[in-house]
Amino acid sequence: MTAERINGKALGLSIRGHLVDRVATVTERLGRPPGLGVILVGEDAASQVYVRNKEKAALKAGMKSEIVRLAVDATQEEVEAAVDAMNADETIDGFLVQLPLPKGLDESTVTDRILPEKDADGLHPTNLGRLMAGIDAPRPCTPSGCIELLKEAGVELEGAHAVVVGRSTIVGKPMAMLLLSENATVTVCHSRTRDLAEQVAAADVVVAAVGRPELIRGEWIKPGAAVIDVGINRVDGKLIGDVDFAGACERAAAVTPVPGGVGPMTIACLLKNTLDAACMQAGLDKINL
Ligand code: NDP
Repeated sequence: MTAERINGKALGLSIRGHLVDRVATVTERLGRPPGLGVILVGEDAASQVYVRNKEKAALKAGMKSEIVRLAVDATQEEVEAAVDAMNADETIDGFLVQLPLPKGLDESTVTDRILPEKDADGLHPTNLGRLMAGIDAPRPCTPSGCIELLKEAGVELEGAHAVVVGRSTIVGKPMAMLLLSENATVTVCHSRTRDLAEQVAAADVVVAAVGRPELIRGEWIKPGAAVIDVGINRVDGKLIGDVDFAGACERAAAVTPVPGGVGPMTIACLLKNTLDAACMQAGLDKINL
């Protein structure tokens, strides 16, 4: 079997294209464009690239983008003051603090300080709680993008056995909740899971969010499964996922590549969350993807 490559780049572009008209409507209603803010602390090379890509996408969609850059030795108080300023800025509808923060800064205190209604990443504890309770709220961008990719590939989630590898608050745990809300039967694996290969082999849907290059071997994949690779690992200057892509292609029905899979979807969902927040301000309904 040669797997279909699920094209996240194309889907992300198409979603962003759909947002443009709504951005224009909101701009007219509010008398200003919807605004996305990013707080970037330090000089981490990967974070700089991600932030640049978010800004480019926001501007292309007709949104305002504001990046606040703080030095690597910024104090906790300085980072929190930047969050307070974004919370108070009426031209910013949604914003995020780019993670990871430099060592010594408390990420969860910073994330908790973001107003839940301006939480573009959908990672504020209030919004994660709403996700758990099945209440409408901004959804965590990366897992939300993964669900869109699975739907785009025509994968039947209802009743499917989904295995999520990784249990971070950013990806693994909300991914499991979103799959559950699609009526999948979900198993969450982590570093203490006894037999990862056995768990993966039982999955109709695999979502890998670990951060270890090619940890998930192609031969583990159940024939006909769908595989979503969230991992981004830099090896010898190349980007590699958490899945042995070539091996997975031999057995799976559909696989996301790295790059060009999940990454572009994360950005599309970030713009959607920001636009949704602006729609609320403008008294407009949220947009359906
Ligand atoms: P974290 O480091 O926060 O979490 C990694 C998870 O993997 C943990 O739950 C850990 O288990 C688990 N794990 C580690 N080793 C193993 C192992 N050998 N077997 C099974 N599970 C293991 O990472 P993130 O969730 O933040 O990110 C994961 C990957 O996704 C990274 O490569 C990151 O760069 C990428 N990413 C990509 C995004 C995108 O837009 N494409 C967005 C966000 C992340 P335990 O809890 O037991 O320690």
